[in-house]
Amino acid sequence: MIKLEKPNDIPQILQDKQREWTDHLLTLVSKYGSYKDIPEKEKASALSHYRHKDITTPLFASSHEKCAFCEGSPKDSGNIEVEHFYPKSIYHDKTFDWDNFLPSCRKCNDSKSNHDVGDEPILNPYDDDFDPSQHFEFVLARMKGKTEIARSTIDVCGLKSRLYDPYSKLIKVFCEYEQTLEEALEELNEKDTNRKRINQIRRISDSIDRIESLMKPTEKYSYFCSYIIQSSEVYNEAKKVLSLEFQQVS
Ligand SMILES: [Zn+2]
Repeated sequence: MIKLEKPNDIPQILQDKQREWTDHLLTLVSKYGSYKDIPEKEKASALSHYRHKDITTPLFASSHEKCAFCEGSPKDSGNIEVEHFYPKSIYHDKTFDWDNFLPSCRKCNDSKSNHDVGDEPILNPYDDDFDPSQHFEFVLARMKGKTEIARSTIDVCGLKSRLYDPYSKLIKVFCEYEQTLEEALEELNEKDTNRKRINQIRRISDSIDRIESLMKPTEKYSYFCSYIIQSSEVYNEAKKVLSLEFQQVS
């Protein structure tokens, strides 16, 4: 999970239609006595508006087309859907509320289902003060909550063991990158001319770039990658070597 931000401008279609769509849904709830008793076809039609592309396009772009909870890409975790942070089955008036929308993969969405975040809160990556480093840590491929709300989030979104597999694959990729970097660092000491040293520093810098590409927010599971990379002694040593070299040059 990484900190996310929605565009400041609420999509025009929501500004124009939110009241009308909400009123229609609330009318159906009162006509049939409850949300769950609205006939499926009528309910599906009343709800369909929030999937309008003028809503989904900026929403999905705000999470870099990944799931806001697990950071899976559609290829790994299934299509991204509009998730209602406060479930629409309980908070009908938030069904077309821009602030209530989250891009979520099918797996997280299904797992969270009708969980009432008003009753048992979970983390919202769009919250202003959300800072993943306060809430999550990793032991090998296992995500662990450091706080009660983080543990609830892992539980509610079904993240306990589902991410073992993609995380393990990323650990393998990271190990390969790290090994290349370690070898490049070792070879630096053998370079006996300035020219050879500069070329080797360039190699180390390229290796760091490759490793850091995994940390970009556009990449899947970028928070997990950032965590393991920043805990790597080899990576930190290489960053130190580079910064010393640049200090000498400047
Ligand atoms: Zn997900």
